[in-house]
Amino acid sequence: MRIIRYQTASETATYGWVIEEKVGKIEGSPFTQFTRGEASNLLEDIKLLPPVLPSKIICVGRNYVAHAKEHDAEVPEVPLIFLKPPSSIIAHGETILLPPQSQQVEHEAELAVVVGKTGRWIQPEEAKDYILGFTIANDVTARDLQFRDGQWTRGKGFDTFCPFGPWIETDFDPADAVVTCHVNEDIRQMASTRDMVFNVKQLLAYVSSVMTLSPGDLLLTGTPAGVGTLKDGDIVEVSIEGIGILRNPVATEPSH
Ligand code: MG
Repeated sequence: MRIIRYQTASETATYGWVIEEKVGKIEGSPFTQFTRGEASNLLEDIKLLPPVLPSKIICVGRNYVAHAKEHDAEVPEVPLIFLKPPSSIIAHGETILLPPQSQQVEHEAELAVVVGKTGRWIQPEEAKDYILGFTIANDVTARDLQFRDGQWTRGKGFDTFCPFGPWIETDFDPADAVVTCHVNEDIRQMASTRDMVFNVKQLLAYVSSVMTLSPGDLLLTGTPAGVGTLKDGDIVEVSIEGIGILRNPVATEPSH
């Protein structure tokens, strides 16, 4: 099932489900008990919102060998994790803003896990029970600031630097799915999730040995090789086989 959050002209934000080009309401919570209403709205008539509002966004660095190599970085022996702030979230279709502090903002196409229930010290073999589903994310990065600072908070944390969506796919196998990134229809990144250094189960176990995972938390699983710069006017599309396409335009942040 595909789960969205959406808004119509007359309604407040609500969870919904998508079938083909139609949308129905979800009554109740997708994390606990819910029923599906009739799919009576057209997808093109609703406004898609970020599919969840996470309490935290945990990201994994250098989780594909070829991407670590393109930065002359070592492949980590344990997962390298960092956080993006929830204020960096934007929905499918919203604009990535290039901040004036950076001359090198880059795309990072990533598979994202949506946590389904509270967990600490999750064992790899039970990880599946803690996953609501999977979505598509773009770990937008000000590469010059990331390298200059050493700490990654600024380079990864600007407003609009975490587009994700358009929906959560609950029926998805993360073992071998192709992740691609196109900028203005030119292909920039393409790899299978089977090339991850640490798989989804290992990542959930590792992260939950550090911090409690809560329903709706987002785990970005790292990007393949081929990251590159974004410029004003670009359209960036991240697609994952079996989930869909996340599309966002890029623009220079208006001056303040
Ligand atoms: Mg990343």
